[in-house]
Amino acid sequence: MQASASQFVTRDTCPMCGGDSYATIYSTRLAGDALSTYFEEVFAPRGGLDKGLLGDTNFVLCRCSECSGLFQLHIPGSELLQEIYNPNLSADVIERKKRGKADPAARYRHAAEIISLLSLFPKAGQGLSVLDYGVGWGHWAVMAKAFGFKVFGTELDKDRANFARQNGIEIIDDEDIPNHAFDLINTEQVFEHLPKPLETLRHLSRGLSEDGIIKVSVPNSHGVERSLSAPEWRKVNEHLNPVAPLEHINCFKRKSLTLMAQRVGLTERPLPVIAQYRSIQFSMPLQHLIREFLVPINRNILKRSNYVLLSASRR
Ligand SMILES: [Zn+2]
Repeated sequence: MQASASQFVTRDTCPMCGGDSYATIYSTRLAGDALSTYFEEVFAPRGGLDKGLLGDTNFVLCRCSECSGLFQLHIPGSELLQEIYNPNLSADVIERKKRGKADPAARYRHAAEIISLLSLFPKAGQGLSVLDYGVGWGHWAVMAKAFGFKVFGTELDKDRANFARQNGIEIIDDEDIPNHAFDLINTEQVFEHLPKPLETLRHLSRGLSEDGIIKVSVPNSHGVERSLSAPEWRKVNEHLNPVAPLEHINCFKRKSLTLMAQRVGLTERPLPVIAQYRSIQFSMPLQHLIREFLVPINRNILKRSNYVLLSASRR
């Protein structure tokens, strides 16, 4: 990567697979009209975005020839990152974030996922050592703790880190990760934000136990390229969300995940379909029930889901 005089850093290889052949598929001025409503809507609840920081830089999306993943060529440098990820939230918003989603089904989904993952850990009853990488407000981590696991987290934001600590999550520094031997490292909607995802995965792999597993879950990228032919940038736009300007700087294809794992010596550990069905409650509303039935089919059979479990173990 080259440092530039602006608020941006420019990439020179695919950050997901390391490939050095790529083509620009979309470009528009970050401070131009196409994105102006988008930035206003997205950043208003976080205290706004200082558009002066965007300068004359373009929002440039490239497609990697090797893994087909999309990535933003110019990514925020440290000052702009501060602006984006340490917003001035009002006290009301902070309280809401601490409570988590009002819908109890959100907590249920955390529990159901953890129950499914347990099928990969025959000795889970003796306790697992778990890292929630980018712990946020700690809702997943607290659920993992309720299963009796020793739960650690990393978090850059002080408010969030303190809140997770109050809930019994041990916050560690990034550089401490290789000193641990985690059975499970959870990364949920984290890798799409990382400046160097391939390097981060390598770093995380050094903190795994012998049979340890890293979960990488990132937004699905189907239909993004089609939407980019005539993009309508709005706050809520599920088709363009995987390439959200300044934030989702890596848009993974399934092949990007596979190649990224290979580069650092990790292989995919499929989660058995039956394990994913284990936590289905037939009392769920029909709509939820259908969704729960479809998730494993998308993941294991159609391979259309960007949810993978990676392990260094060859078994
Ligand atoms: Zn690539």
